[in-house]
Parts: sequence; structure tokens; C-alpha cells
Amino acid sequence: MTRMRSFLVLGLVTSLAACATNPVTGERQLALVSEGQEIEIGRQVAAGAEQQLGLVDDDALQAYVQRLGTQLAEASERPDLPWSFRVVDDPTPNAFAAPGGFIFITRGLLALLRNEAELVSILGHEIGHVTARHSVAMMSRAQLAQLGLGIGSIISPTVAQFGDLAAGGLQLLFLRYGRDAERQADDLGYRYALEQGYDVREMPNVFAALQQSAELAGQSQVPSWLATHPYPEERIARIKRQLVDLPAVVEPRRIGEDDYMARIDGLAYGENPRNGYFEANRFLHPDLAFQLDFPRDWRTQNLAQAVVAGSPREDALIQLMLVPGTPEEAANRFFVQEGLTAGRVRSQGINGLPAIVGAFQAQTEQAQLAGVATFVALEGRTYRILGYSPAPRFAGYESTFRAVGTSFARLTNVEALARQPRRLSVVRVPREVTLSEFDRRNPSAIPVEELALINQLAGPQAVMPAGFHAKRIIGH
Ligand SMILES: [Zn+2]
Repeated sequence: MTRMRSFLVLGLVTSLAACATNPVTGERQLALVSEGQEIEIGRQVAAGAEQQLGLVDDDALQAYVQRLGTQLAEASERPDLPWSFRVVDDPTPNAFAAPGGFIFITRGLLALLRNEAELVSILGHEIGHVTARHSVAMMSRAQLAQLGLGIGSIISPTVAQFGDLAAGGLQLLFLRYGRDAERQADDLGYRYALEQGYDVREMPNVFAALQQSAELAGQSQVPSWLATHPYPEERIARIKRQLVDLPAVVEPRRIGEDDYMARIDGLAYGENPRNGYFEANRFLHPDLAFQLDFPRDWRTQNLAQAVVAGSPREDALIQLMLVPGTPEEAANRFFVQEGLTAGRVRSQGINGLPAIVGAFQAQTEQAQLAGVATFVALEGRTYRILGYSPAPRFAGYESTFRAVGTSFARLTNVEALARQPRRLSVVRVPREVTLSEFDRRNPSAIPVEELALINQLAGPQAVMPAGFHAKRIIGH
């Protein structure tokens, strides 16, 4: 019966698939996804990404990137898509496109760029992936089915399926398209930028900066651009070959350094502690005013909707997240879930805060899991700390799960509560100066090598001419 049905479904999908003309190549290609569906999928993925990754809270900057992107996109082969360009609050340098015209760039990448021409070359490249329908071509039937169900995960599938950390198709954003698609996106981006009057000679700088920045990637759920965009040397060489064909005499082309620098002046740099940060194994959240101690030596990650920690042997997971309702309501909802058997559940105080703690066993498709759930209230919010492992390993982890739950406490450390992110500050150098001399006079919160990187300079001895927009990093 099951097999019969899947044949029927397959037949249906095949019959719905139609031939469509690729907007870029003009070639006829098999399209499983109509433009309307493409936009709808893109909207879902984009909404998930905004929620999971978070946007930079700077209306002027968002409007600026939206304006530059829209200007390119409206002159592309697909001007009528609902184009949107957003800056994501993530320190890892990357940019990515969801189908249908939803494009994201991280603030980590903005920190590496020096001008509008560079920014536009990144946006143009991502627009190219959309206009050439690369992600649509790569979407398998399985992925489409998954999107509908909202399944899919960045954590190990076994545990995530249970832990309701569904990434809502986020993986669609971090596709690796393959060499040909990347070449095509580069070529399209180059053309879009050129047509809008930008100085495309700035393009190779972006690749070079990204290549140098590989080690900058922090604790993030976003892979770096280099991880999703391989072969940088080949691509730099290819762009340089194209630049040879530029007319020798060109009208002044737009670089847009002043405008760009004005927009990124003050942008957060590196991890943003307002969203929570780690000090060794202690997690502190200044905005929500709590702290929690994870086990030493576990691998931790601070995601937008949860903080997760994995055991060194990767056989246990602890997850902290906000849940609706009071601890009683949240616990009642949790312990009555289908497939879940509650052990002893009881109310207790945790560091003066009302809490409910209970053990449970849960049957998932892959395994029998066992764990401890802690629900604790602070300032009208309820936090759920969930620790679990495969049932046979639970005995070895139970005390750890309970200890993490009972370490939850109000954050009272004044310094931690006031902690702010480091910020980019742009200084125009009045006269020629080496980077190391500049750094001595205007100390930065990062090593001089990293400073060289964000200024696209070769190293500490590189010379900045008078009038150069120098970036420095201020903060603790
Ligand atoms: Zn690409």
C-alpha cells in the first residue's frame, strides 16, 4: 500500500513538472518549481533565517543595502521578484540567497569590505544565483517535501528531530552550488555591477579579503563564504581576465567609499554579547539577565533561539531555550507529549527562582532517549533546560543534566550586565601613516594582523595614504 502510494505521488509530481525558460540563459529547462512556488519557498526560508539568525538593528544600514540591491536587481533578468536585501547579525563573513529574491549579507562580511563597489559585487553575485535559478535547480523533491514539514536541522538529525530545533529549511541558504553555477553567478554579478556604473576593478579585493579572513569565523551557525564558495584563486584570475577587456578609457566609475564607510561606522564587530556570551563554560545573557553553567569541555553554541551544548563523546545534548507560559504550563505541555514517559516531576526552588524539574524517557524514530527537563521562571519568562542522551547512557549523564539545570541564576554582575559589543569606528587618517603607527595612536581591541585584514592591508607595515578611511575596533 505504501509503495503504491509513493508511486502515485511520484507520478503526480512528474506530471506537474513543466518546461520553463531559464531567465538568464534563455534555455529551456525542466522546472519542478513554478515561479510562484519559488517565491513562496523563498519567503519561508527567509522568515526562518531572520528568526534564527537575527537582523542587525540599524534601519539606515538596512535601507542602504536594500536600496543598492534593489537597484541592481531591477535591472536584472527578473526585475519583478519581491527582492529583499537584509543584513544579518552574525560575525562570520558570508552572503547567501534564498530562492525568489531574498538575499542576506552578514555584518561580518560588511566589516571586511571597503566600499559600495565591493558590496555591490557580492550582492550582484547573490542576485545571479537567483536570476539563474540555481537553488531551484538544486532543490530535490526530498528537500521540497522537508520544507513543507518544516523539518531539517543544523544539529545532528537524531537529537534535533526531538529537540524541536528545526531549522526551517535554513540549509537551503548554505547550498554549495558547484563550479559552473559559481562562475555564472560571478559573471552575472560582474555585469550587473558594471551596468549600474560601479567600478568592477574593486571586485578581486573582495575575494582576496575573504580568503585572508578564513580564520576569522567565530562561533556561529553561519558557515563562511569561503565554505560555500570554493575556488577563490580561480575566480580572482577569471575576474582579472575579464577586467582586461574593460575599455581603456572609462568614464569615472562609482566606488562609493565615503557613503559606505559612513554606513558601517559604529557597526557591531565580532560576537554580540547582548545576545549572550560564554565565559569559559558559563553562559551569561545581559539583556535577559541570567546565567547558566554548562559542563566543562562540552562544545557549546549560542544560536538565536537556543543555546546548545554537546558532550565530548557526542552522545548527549543540553539545550536552553525560552518557552511560552509559566513553568507549570510549560512542564504540563512537555511531559504529556506523545511518545514521552514522565518520571518523577516536582516543584523546587532554583537559586530563589520557582522551577519544576522532571526526568523523562522518549521514543523517537531513531532511538530511545532519556533526559531531565528543568523549567525555571525569571522576570516573567520561562526557560527550559533540556538534557538528554540515548537511554542506555542516561545514568552517566543524569547528575550533569540536573547540575546544569540548578545552576540557572539571576545575573547580578554589574560588569556583565553592562557588556557591549565591540564596534567598528572609521577614522580618516590626516597624513600618510603605517598601520602599526596608526594602531599605536588609536589602539584597537583586536590584534594588528586582524586590523590589517579588515582594512584590506597586507600587514602592520602597510602604508595608508592621507585621507584613507581606516577602520579600528573599539570596546573592551
Ligand atoms: Zn555563490
